[in-house]
Amino acid sequence: MLVGKIIPALLAVAVPELKAIHFANRRLAREWKTLEAMIRCYCHDHHDTSDALCPECQQLHDYAAVRLERCRFGVGKPTCANCPVHCYQKARREQVKVVMRYAGPRMLWRHPVLSLIHWLDGRRRAPEI
Ligand code: SF4
Ligand SMILES: [Zn+2]
Repeated sequence: MLVGKIIPALLAVAVPELKAIHFANRRLAREWKTLEAMIRCYCHDHHDTSDALCPECQQLHDYAAVRLERCRFGVGKPTCANCPVHCYQKARREQVKVVMRYAGPRMLWRHPVLSLIHWLDGRRRAPEI
């Protein structure tokens, strides 16, 4: 499928560091890159940080990495917003929602390729459980 060839090519140009991420699966690695960029965007604008995250956002970052790494859906993962399981603790889920609500629209300008692909991922049908 054409999209399957175009997306990796766009990513290779826009996010070359994807190769260095430890997620075995390329799709999960890309999801991680998107979420990480959103947390950074939120932390930078709300907690006056630059490269490093504040302790609170760092905790969310580390928690989200474990959730994604252990996602039961693997390659067939829907976006977390469309997930029928929702493996996040309630407080963490609220926290990540706040981050996404703020960073989502800003990702369009800061990371347009990741943003576009995340939007496409959001159109995936959630798996049956
Ligand atoms: S919320 Fe659902 S899709 Fe997101 S990591 Fe947890 S199980 Fe996977
Ligand atoms: Zn922060």
